[in-house]
Amino acid sequence: MKIHEYQAKEIFRKYNITTSKEKIAFSLEEAKIISKELQFPIVVKAQVLVGGRGKAGGVKIAKTQQELESVVSTILGMNIKGLVVKKVLLAEAVKIENEYYVGITIDREIRAPVLIASASGGMDIEEVASKTPEKIISVSISPLLGLKSFQARDIGYQLFNEAPLVNSFIAFVTNLTKIFFDLDCSLVEINPLALVNINNERKLIALDAKIIFDDNALYRHPEMIALRDIDSEEPSEVQAKKADLSYVKLDGNVGCVVNGAGLAMATMDLIKRYGGNPANFLDIGGSSSPEKMREAMKILTADKNVKAVLVNIFGGITRCDDVAQGLLWAIKEEKINLPIVARLVGTNQDKAKALLTNSPVIFAETMTDGVKKVIGTLKG
Ligand code: GDP
Ligand code: MN
Repeated sequence: MKIHEYQAKEIFRKYNITTSKEKIAFSLEEAKIISKELQFPIVVKAQVLVGGRGKAGGVKIAKTQQELESVVSTILGMNIKGLVVKKVLLAEAVKIENEYYVGITIDREIRAPVLIASASGGMDIEEVASKTPEKIISVSISPLLGLKSFQARDIGYQLFNEAPLVNSFIAFVTNLTKIFFDLDCSLVEINPLALVNINNERKLIALDAKIIFDDNALYRHPEMIALRDIDSEEPSEVQAKKADLSYVKLDGNVGCVVNGAGLAMATMDLIKRYGGNPANFLDIGGSSSPEKMREAMKILTADKNVKAVLVNIFGGITRCDDVAQGLLWAIKEEKINLPIVARLVGTNQDKAKALLTNSPVIFAETMTDGVKKVIGTLKG
């Protein structure tokens, strides 16, 4: 589960991580009132659950009241990567000397959390990581012992050459690690961690904040569940969650309906291998009913990028005839006229085949056959 920057920063402050003086506004009127409590220049930041806001024009500095009102009006309602901005964070802008990156996430390969830091933080961190990986420092964190002080100190001295800043950095990463473990996060990130000069005192401030919670552990943190902002999440993913489907929207044009996460991943891999691009990850789960299948097709085909659909089912507890029935309902009720290729094997596969004869569904015998056929439909 993702939360907004302003929510993450509230958590930061509870853990003694310094942020700017700031407040959230839901409307222009509210922004006008809040701006009276802050000192100009004020930075106005779109609150959407996606990164890269700065590059998309969602972060702007206002020097005067007039500028502030025009900037707030522009950013509220702005569309950033398909999400509409419904609130803005107003923060006292600071003069930045340098932008650092620091984050903690899970490294699946080593099966442990990893602390990542860089002196080249800011909006281009992805580019830094891919073009100059030597500028990224990382160290694994023991899941049992946590971050050791020597590890924090070592990275601190690689980034800063003054003891007060190193000590401040150590405090930042220690507190950040505490958040990561206390709240069962899958990511905590400060980018930029800014080095600023306020009244001739050089210090570090978290200018941005990102926290993603591990959904599987959320039940242990009811107060975090309350932070969920469904209104700002990808609408199709919310709809899928309600229907008990695991759905992640991607950028391709081949819609996939699969049962089981492993088979879903393998299906996506195979689509890529044969030159196609999956439009989504979708696991309808075991024991699927026709209703669930119909819902899956509905969500999937609402994505206008989808030009063909591959249904890949290995029927165990899931019955192929249930899937076929749901598919027929979806085609009829949702008036789907995209090419649909189905590979249905396992429990009740013959019944499924009988149901789908005389339907527009193209049958495939194997997974590879299905993938080749669905990609074939796109080539006309
Ligand atoms: P993101 O693009 O979604 O990661 O949004 P950020 O919150 O990281 O903001 C993007 C960029 O805006 C930062 O990298 C900074 O360069 C700049 N920025 C944010 N806050 C301030 C501020 O208080 N002062 C100045 N000068 N720049 C800021
Ligand atoms: Mn950022």
